[in-house]
Amino acid sequence: MAFAPYVYKRQPVLTRMFSLALAANHLGHAYLLTGEEGVPLKQTALFLAKSILCQHPNPLADETCLTCTRIDNGAYADFVFLDGDEDTVKKEAVAQIEDSFSKTALEKKGIMVYVINSVENMTAGAANAILKFLEEPNPDTYAILTTRSPAKVLPTIISRCQVFHLRLAPQNEVKQEAIALGVNEEDAELLSNFLNEANLIKDEAASPTYQFIRDAAVDFLSALTSSRQAARFAIEKASLNIKDKASLRKLFDFVCLFLSAALAYRDKANNPLPAYDKMIVGLANKLSSPSEKLLQAMTMRQEIESNINAGLLLIHLAECLGKE
Ligand SMILES: [Zn+2]
Repeated sequence: MAFAPYVYKRQPVLTRMFSLALAANHLGHAYLLTGEEGVPLKQTALFLAKSILCQHPNPLADETCLTCTRIDNGAYADFVFLDGDEDTVKKEAVAQIEDSFSKTALEKKGIMVYVINSVENMTAGAANAILKFLEEPNPDTYAILTTRSPAKVLPTIISRCQVFHLRLAPQNEVKQEAIALGVNEEDAELLSNFLNEANLIKDEAASPTYQFIRDAAVDFLSALTSSRQAARFAIEKASLNIKDKASLRKLFDFVCLFLSAALAYRDKANNPLPAYDKMIVGLANKLSSPSEKLLQAMTMRQEIESNINAGLLLIHLAECLGKE
């Protein structure tokens, strides 16, 4: 997937400054990308890493040369990617970067790059190891870090980095771009609330896991507009397949978004999710005290982190929302 069009169009400040520094051979040794939920921080960080190593940057990564392709495939020896979204970054992982980078570069280019996504999600030991690394940078080593919560990153790490705050693109434009890429209106509308880039929406819309969770949320809330029993049945059916935390979080995200749309419709007769008009209007008419129910669903979403049983949490959700 070509990511350059997104960066050039949506992040002009970053494009200008990074291209200039790259062309003048004047890159900083560490960059930190920040941005709100939905902004594609990880993809942008990987794109910048490719831009540093690319064989034919123009002005940033061409995304087609052998080096870019090998980075995509995780097969470039002087590039390391650690993902704090997948797992807490531990000291051993950082030590491994230091170890491989303390030797001379393996590739002809002679430059080493590492990316740490969601850098706030690391152990204290790993943070200290990174800090040491940033304090005495090797002349041919570059770091690109990302975070959605700069307040959770050690100030001493932030002060060593050049910080770029990425801009959120207007949601309606992103939705229209996704539709232009062939995504149907319902998915484009729903996903543009969570992803701020049309190609990412297209990928997500095609994922069977997403489709299952979307259907589960819609079936559950539609059932709520008919009866409590129907809602309970729908959620029990969903809970057979929704067990991992990431899927559970997504289901709660969708349910909360739909509830907030029902609330907006009731307060201002304005439905922010017109592609789901029938369900939203039905919910707004049927649900008693929707604001209280939205708050309850949001509180339950936080409980997902504390290893609660997924099936029980979903039944609890159905009970709460089904109350008259
Ligand atoms: Zn390239």
